[in-house]
Amino acid sequence: MSIGKVNLLIGGKQCPPASGNYYPIHSPVDGKLFAEVADANEADVDTAVIAAKSAFYKEWKFYDREEKRTLLQRFLEALQASEDELSAAKVLPGPGGIGGLPTAVINYYISKLDHQTGTILEHSDQGTTYVIREPLGVVAVFAPWNGPVLGALLSVIPALVAGNTVILKTPEEEAPQATKAMEAFYKAGFPEGVINVISGSGPEAGKALVAHPDVKMISFTGSTSTGKKIMAAAANDLKRVQLNLGNKTPQIVFPDANLSQAAQAAARSAFPGQACSAISRILVHRSIKNEYIERLHETAKKMAPCLLINKSAIERMEEHVRLGHKEGTLLFGGSQPQGDEYAEGCYFLPTAIEFSDQSSTVCQEEIFGPILSILEFDSDEEALTLANATDYGLIASLWTQDTQRMRYFTQRLEMGTVVVNRGSVLSTRSPWGGFKQSGIGRRYGEQGLEPFFEYKTVWTP
Ligand code: NAD
Repeated sequence: MSIGKVNLLIGGKQCPPASGNYYPIHSPVDGKLFAEVADANEADVDTAVIAAKSAFYKEWKFYDREEKRTLLQRFLEALQASEDELSAAKVLPGPGGIGGLPTAVINYYISKLDHQTGTILEHSDQGTTYVIREPLGVVAVFAPWNGPVLGALLSVIPALVAGNTVILKTPEEEAPQATKAMEAFYKAGFPEGVINVISGSGPEAGKALVAHPDVKMISFTGSTSTGKKIMAAAANDLKRVQLNLGNKTPQIVFPDANLSQAAQAAARSAFPGQACSAISRILVHRSIKNEYIERLHETAKKMAPCLLINKSAIERMEEHVRLGHKEGTLLFGGSQPQGDEYAEGCYFLPTAIEFSDQSSTVCQEEIFGPILSILEFDSDEEALTLANATDYGLIASLWTQDTQRMRYFTQRLEMGTVVVNRGSVLSTRSPWGGFKQSGIGRRYGEQGLEPFFEYKTVWTP
């Protein structure tokens, strides 16, 4: 059943889009209409920026930490109370998204309100020199569809803590959930215009936001190809950018690894397959390759087909399987599942394709679905070369018991995160972000707050 129309949120009020146009979202489970979402244009972006700019200069920039703390704590309560509503607004079925991690992220950045807002560099008979941290102004945040709430909060909360006002561009597919989550700011009593929400299909609204002269910073989470366009557009007036982009996570498996655990970790990560951290390349030592693949396949057989976000994702999987057939060997999967229950939905089977050449498109491109590429290696040096041989560098997963080898790899992998003998982990204190084309900057931790400040040096007599 459709949840109906989802409007924009500007200046604390829900508003229809200037054009009167809404775009449809269909459920990936059965293809039925799920929601109609406001399709914003440049005029809507203008209205949102005026609201955010006015809220910044009139109020939010000058709020003290206790006022901000009270509002942010009330926001967290309002968000937690909306869990059922948020779950119902999620296109890809699942919980509302206000679990332990989002709560911990909000609390972590609230605790940063207690940190000093400046430092005295010198205080003498000649005068005083001090440095203060100030907010930038209006910040545009782009959240990805695979993390519409957490992905938004990771930028929105530090931006607000630093004293900025925000315009969130919701992801096309999960706009209803992201919009509903932001309504909790107003339930909590935030001043009008401190947080605004713009939705829209295609690039129009996003482009207008990035080009707007009164937007001072862009925090974008999405694909590397869109990130590059945003960075190029932001160069026009030198907007600050924080980019959280795509990846091609390698799992590197040595003969001394616990093969059963490694195969299970890979399957659990790769076959739901729609996370930036998802394992998508297996690099396995030649001597254990067959045994490893057998275990991986056994685990995959017990897993449900992957529910993809939309029909175009199925086409993307099929295209990569076609390429896989040409350049490699299909080991299992490779198609949509059979059965009436899957007939109308966007499902795809857990898939593994073996390659002998890492330069294949399937081994290089982020596919964002349940397709694993598998390559064998003979030596540590070869495994390292293969692991680093893509444009991405967000995270790698290393499986070995040898501590010397762990050191060798952790020092040489060009990745923002390296996990050893375990699945991917996220923590509020640990910076998360990528080397190379996986992004610029970090979220989580101190590093996730820093980009939202400007520094001002003051000399007084
Ligand atoms: P996407 O690149 O398709 O981004 C779509 C968003 O960008 C939409 O809001 C769209 O309206 C807007 N847009 C499109 N073209 C634009 C342009 N030229 N100018 C301005 N805005 C424009 O990303 P997605 O599919 O929503 O997200 C999936 C991607 O996000 C994957 O690549 C995944 O790896 C990545 N991701 C990264 C992290 C991380 O922490 N590094 C976390 C989650 C997801």
